[in-house]
Amino acid sequence: MSLSTQRVYLNGEFLPLDQARVPVLDRGFLFGDGVYEVIPVYGGRPLRLAEHLRRLDRSLSAIHMESPLSDDAWSEIIHQLIEGPEDQQIYIQVTRGVQPKRDHAIPASVMPTVFAMGSQIAPIPSGGIKAVTVTDIRWDRCDIKAITLLANVLLRQEAISRGAAEAVIVRDGLALEGAASNLFIVQKQTIITPPKSDTILPGITRDLVLEIAQEAGFTTVERTISLPELRGADEIWFTSSTREILSVTELDAQPVSGGQPGPVWREVLAAYQDYKRRLREGSISE
Ligand code: PMP
Repeated sequence: MSLSTQRVYLNGEFLPLDQARVPVLDRGFLFGDGVYEVIPVYGGRPLRLAEHLRRLDRSLSAIHMESPLSDDAWSEIIHQLIEGPEDQQIYIQVTRGVQPKRDHAIPASVMPTVFAMGSQIAPIPSGGIKAVTVTDIRWDRCDIKAITLLANVLLRQEAISRGAAEAVIVRDGLALEGAASNLFIVQKQTIITPPKSDTILPGITRDLVLEIAQEAGFTTVERTISLPELRGADEIWFTSSTREILSVTELDAQPVSGGQPGPVWREVLAAYQDYKRRLREGSISE
């Protein structure tokens, strides 16, 4: 789709992407003062929409903002942006808005800038991916889905420059999450993921994968993962809305699960695909 035909939502209007403009004194542009969501859509139906909107509210309230729209209004905008039955994603961003001069202090009254657009989901690798461990350089509120993503950008770039697709972020000897994904390991058929805290983003896919894995009969545990445990894991996965469940087959240039995606990953991914199929068919609700 071209820039001139793709319709986006900006501050109450639908307009072509190449006409969507934000003033340079927007605090999102100046300070990264805003939050976002990415919602995957299958067969025209957003996956776990209520959970995404709840997390958006949580992120907004953590930065002392109120939600500019009701859940029904968000849902209406999102459904208006969905184009056809193909797999796609909706991006939502709310910044604190535009102020008359550049000043860190939060103005007493300011109108938030609200933006949303749809786009295709990039093809997801079907084999394994390479990952590297990196030292955490982020702040202490990684639970907020903030648009301020410079640390994540640098960590992902470090992974790429070391020949990998994703980074496992390590802080105080614990493996926390990916640069844009949550982390899972498998130890003797048990599926382990770090607990929710201010050091990770509470992933919507993470929660869904835990649910699906339990339904498939696996034991799941939410607890911290040490670096030696990560290195010794039978399987390592990353989860996210747009990458689903990725299998790591090489960590820091050493093979994981014998260099092939593992059997637990195959089974849980198949259950995840089945969930998407039921969502597409309308047999489970958004
Ligand atoms: N952690 C981080 C740091 C992320 O950026 C993301 C995705 N944006 C996730 C985890 C996964 O979250 P979700 O499953 O909701 O996409």
